[in-house]
Amino acid sequence: MHKSKIKYNINTLKIGLKEIFSLQPWLIPCALIDAVFKSMAPFINIYMSAKIIDELIGAKNLDKLKFLVVVTISLNLAVHLISAALDHLVTMLRNITMQNQKMKLNEKIVNMNYEQVENPEIHLLRTKIAESENMNGGGISALIEYLADLEKGFFTVVVSIYLVINLFKSEAILDSYLSIINSNIISYGFLILVIVCIGLSLKMQTKSNTLFFNSFSKVMDINRVFGYYFGQILDYNVGKEIRLCNQKEILIKENKDFTQGTQKLFNDLGYKDAKYRGFDGLITSLVSGTIYVFVGLKAIVGAISIGSVVQYTGSISQFMEGSKRFLTSVNAIINNNKYLQLYIDFLNIEDYKYKGTIPVEKRDDDEYEIEFRNVSFKYPGTDIYALKNISIKLDIGERLAIVGMNGSGKTTFIKLLARLYEPNEGEILLNGIDIRKYDYEEYLGLFSIVFQDFKLFSFSLGQNVTASVSFDEENVKEVLSKVGLDKRLSTMINGVQTSLYKEFDEEGVEISGGEAQKIALARALHRNAPIIILDEPTSALDPIAEFEIYTKFNDVVGTKTAFYISHRLSSCRFCDEIAVFDRGRIVQKGKHDELLKNEGGKYYELWQAQAKYYNSEVSA
Ligand code: ADP
Repeated sequence: MHKSKIKYNINTLKIGLKEIFSLQPWLIPCALIDAVFKSMAPFINIYMSAKIIDELIGAKNLDKLKFLVVVTISLNLAVHLISAALDHLVTMLRNITMQNQKMKLNEKIVNMNYEQVENPEIHLLRTKIAESENMNGGGISALIEYLADLEKGFFTVVVSIYLVINLFKSEAILDSYLSIINSNIISYGFLILVIVCIGLSLKMQTKSNTLFFNSFSKVMDINRVFGYYFGQILDYNVGKEIRLCNQKEILIKENKDFTQGTQKLFNDLGYKDAKYRGFDGLITSLVSGTIYVFVGLKAIVGAISIGSVVQYTGSISQFMEGSKRFLTSVNAIINNNKYLQLYIDFLNIEDYKYKGTIPVEKRDDDEYEIEFRNVSFKYPGTDIYALKNISIKLDIGERLAIVGMNGSGKTTFIKLLARLYEPNEGEILLNGIDIRKYDYEEYLGLFSIVFQDFKLFSFSLGQNVTASVSFDEENVKEVLSKVGLDKRLSTMINGVQTSLYKEFDEEGVEISGGEAQKIALARALHRNAPIIILDEPTSALDPIAEFEIYTKFNDVVGTKTAFYISHRLSSCRFCDEIAVFDRGRIVQKGKHDELLKNEGGKYYELWQAQAKYYNSEVSA
């Protein structure tokens, strides 16, 4: 192996070990002790059998025989009991380690910049980590397993060498041509044979291991597709499309091609693996035979006792097993470094967001002024400006409506305001200071935002509204009644403690899109932040519910600053100012009546387009 590669592998292993230690400090020491006991177990029988056979053939002292049998049984019992207890302990510690690792990954994700969460490369990296863990435990979990194997192999080799060393020092008693077996040349020859066989067998195992490791990434891709075909397709949400949009044929064909491709890959893998393993088995059988001949002849020439035949043959077999185990785990650890690297890369993703330190002034009068100054922005990895040269000032207590066609940049504007992304050019100011300079958490505390693609969680209704584990029920009821959900609440058996959806709770309720939107609004209201942002807040509501929300919302928003994004121009009429977005730019600004006067303007165009469908609204 190349020197730099060795260095890389050692470094990666070091990081992996440190990581396991930080996740659960007791796992490695306990696994080490476990390995010692596990590798000792077979040697008790090998060693004690030799002693018992020698006694049976030799002095035949009954007391000594009894003693040897009792010692054998006691030692076996003790080692197995301790081993079982250690096994249990190590499994427990291993589970804790894996849980801690999952929590660490999840924490990393929730604390990551939103921009990074949306980044497809980071997304893929996280998926690959999960997939490699699921496939072969690749990464941390596999490292724990291979380390245990490495330790077991190492101790087995050490003890077997200790028990076998005398074989080569023994003197022949019989003077015959067979005594040649005791010559140094034969001993060295035998040793070389054993080592060569271990080498060959290892090569076969390494080939087989590498074959599997290399195919993991292919199998991971297959699993992803498999997950889609056999997991998501069963999901009732896509069931409608499959049936109504006639997607059946394409799905069945893709499914068939995929299954055939997968079968071929697994057949090839199985064939190659069987070849390697068959050859390995052949070598091991041949060398086992040679061991028996060599050790047996030594016994015939009187160099060793009959009992020692058991000890030496057993120990040499253990030596072969142990060294193969040791070297195979070294190989597996090297192969696993590729997967460990994914995990390390993920943890090393830098949080490059400038967090800022200035505290946000807590104002009783909610006097916050926001200004976009020549702000331009492109999404990472794209060349098109989602926002271009945006300048707008929003005074305290004002309501700004943002209107425009789909894709004109309305949501992006809000994402920048909430610092989910940073502008590429220009700056956003809060009370005259660049928002990047404020403490991020405090800054976010200023906003209650309901995004168009808001998500509710499979927690209780109250937990969804308050975003906390425990909550004041009355408070939740009050805010739910403000958004018009009191009637629906009265039908829920467990009230605000009712779970949304059925993932974790059979008694959970399924809610309609409109109800979900009301809950999301209630969550924003409960947050009670001085600036409220609603991105298409009423798109899933029927016109009556929409009207209700808007009338109530004016009361609730009160003196707060509010941003409304809506494609329904009629619902923006009550705003102090309307900004019209078109292809990432603000093309018009003003009040509804003023904007409507400009018949060549975008607002007029949008209004006319909607007027066809909302005649009653226009005339209202
Ligand atoms: P609107 O809210 O007005 O419908 P958006 O602000 O969502 O528009 O989108 C503005 C433009 O940015 C669109 O062309 C859209 O395709 C693009 N865009 C939105 N989100 C992303 C993203 N995460 N990555 C790349 N482009 C995006």
